[in-house]
Amino acid sequence: MMTSPAINVGERPGVNLLGLSLRQMEQFFLDIGEKKFRAQQVLKWVHHAGVTDIGEMTNLGKALREKLLAIAEVRPPEIVSQHDSTDGTRKWVIRVDGGGLIETVLIPEAGRATLCVSSQVGCSLDCSFCSTGKQGFQRDLSAAEIIGQVWLAINSYDAFKPGSGRIVTNVVMMGMGEPLLNFDNVVAAMELMLEDLAYGLSKRRVTLSTSGVVPALDRLAAVSEVSLAISLHAPNDALRNELVPINRKYPIAMLLQSARNYIDAQRDNKRVVTVEYTLIAGVNDQPDQARELAVLLRDFPCKINLIPFNAFPQSGYQRPSGNAVSRFWQVLVDAGFVVTVRTTRGEDIDAACGQLVGQVVDRTRRSERYRAAADIQAIQVS
Ligand code: SAH
Ligand code: SF4
Repeated sequence: MMTSPAINVGERPGVNLLGLSLRQMEQFFLDIGEKKFRAQQVLKWVHHAGVTDIGEMTNLGKALREKLLAIAEVRPPEIVSQHDSTDGTRKWVIRVDGGGLIETVLIPEAGRATLCVSSQVGCSLDCSFCSTGKQGFQRDLSAAEIIGQVWLAINSYDAFKPGSGRIVTNVVMMGMGEPLLNFDNVVAAMELMLEDLAYGLSKRRVTLSTSGVVPALDRLAAVSEVSLAISLHAPNDALRNELVPINRKYPIAMLLQSARNYIDAQRDNKRVVTVEYTLIAGVNDQPDQARELAVLLRDFPCKINLIPFNAFPQSGYQRPSGNAVSRFWQVLVDAGFVVTVRTTRGEDIDAACGQLVGQVVDRTRRSERYRAAADIQAIQVS
């Protein structure tokens, strides 16, 4: 269970109300001697109306507003820059307290828009094919900084007019960082994503992706019902040890068991785990490996999402050809799996999976290095 927030009376920064779940906000109001229904009013102001100025929260009464102004604030992180891809994908570089930079990506598709949210500045897990991992770990994001990305995406989107529809319909915790290593803050932020007084998203439309922090995944089932994706990337432990080093601590069998327990604990018994498999040329993309994967997942309730590797400078890896992706896909389909291939989005703005680094770099120079580092092939897989 989450502890109630410590109240820092007086000097700024006060309590950042942006990151408090309904339960935490109710506790906050009780702690300052107010009625807990105030929490509902503040949540609506902040998340529905996008209001950050406590002085504008008119139904709180003047005395309460003044009290709050002295001890609390509503402070989203700061947008440093915005990048629009030719395919409609938008990426924001966001500065968090202490100067760290993170990235948030909005991917519009027919009838929906998925926001890819970061959970940490950098990542400690060092997967061999991930540029976030290459930059190392700086720090966990607070709950306010995580939900603040949703707040910013909605409130800074120029096409968005309150009441005219939803600019964010789905959230995936697939940006920078390993969400299960920042457990409490991620859980609090996901509560706000699902909370009707905040963003009211369906639990099926919020997805947590993990590389396999098994003890934390075991704990998640008791506090959350969001959809689950696991980053598998290899059909056996020998290869996965190389690609996803945390596998040495929590090998594949443990991860699959923990993921199965997670969905078994859900009330909705139709749910499946999404298995993410980043395809890297000559490393894990061979038909034999697809067959081995089919055997591994034979009785596992899942759908498989193939992600053609997205290159970044000095990665040392290459994206497979479209034919190699199709062959791998076909083996799995023939074995009876539901398999999707993730379309690469936002590549021209370095917004694709695994390309997020949070650094503000000269795009032109980066593109040159990028081309030198990998023989990039455009793939078309329907
Ligand atoms: N840390 C979490 C979530 C963030 S990464 C996790 O690892 O699951 C989101 C997804 O992008 C993961 O499946 C990850 O393995 C994948 N990914 C990372 N780098 C990639 C790259 N360069 N190309 C394609 N997918 C990548
Ligand atoms: Fe971290 Fe996920 Fe990247 Fe691995 S793939 S280094 S867990 S962000």
